Amino acid sequence: MCLYLEYWLLVSQLADGAGNGLLVLLLLPMGIKRPKSFAFLNFFITFPALKTNLTTRIIMTKEELMRKAIELSVQNVAEGGGPFGAVIARNGEIIAMGVNRVTPDCDPTAHAEVSAIRTAAKILGTFDLSGCEIYTSCEPCPMCLGAIYWAHLDRMYYGNSKKDAAKIGFDDAFIYEELDLKPEDRRLKSEVLLPEEAIKAFQDWENKTDKVEY
Ligand SMILES: [Zn+2]
Repeated sequence: MCLYLEYWLLVSQLADGAGNGLLVLLLLPMGIKRPKSFAFLNFFITFPALKTNLTTRIIMTKEELMRKAIELSVQNVAEGGGPFGAVIARNGEIIAMGVNRVTPDCDPTAHAEVSAIRTAAKILGTFDLSGCEIYTSCEPCPMCLGAIYWAHLDRMYYGNSKKDAAKIGFDDAFIYEELDLKPEDRRLKSEVLLPEEAIKAFQDWENKTDKVEY
């Protein structure tokens, strides 16, 4: 009975929230005496412990998550990028982080939010980030705001405003103003060209029966 109790306590301690299921796996083959009648419990005790404990889960408050985004933005300035950082979290747990890499990567779309969205989608294996929230060190530009909508993020938090960004030369505000104008009044000149040919892909899409909607 004592042996049963000892074994049970050992397994329980190693497999608990602070423990490590791997130790249980390592110790079991080393011949620690265990009652045979309890052997079937090994799987139920060890496997969930392995699954949940091998990757440390850190749950953060919204302030902590925003501080992380801010920390990324500050660090990124020191490393040659723009002063922007973003974090995507689900239930307080960081899924992905991103920083502005426009100049180092020669990529005008490498904004912190877009980078974080791309990474989060890859990590979660889905284009739909419902259930996640984004923490960004600055109010997003229209491109990133669009990406946030497309990713179906539940909520957005931001530190600096677009006016703060405009003051240091990142004038996203003008793009927001452009969006309010009629196409013909925008700074970017645009015209409709070959619409009767372009419509083919839309017709194909409409007729497709096995399409994945997003
Ligand atoms: Zn952006």
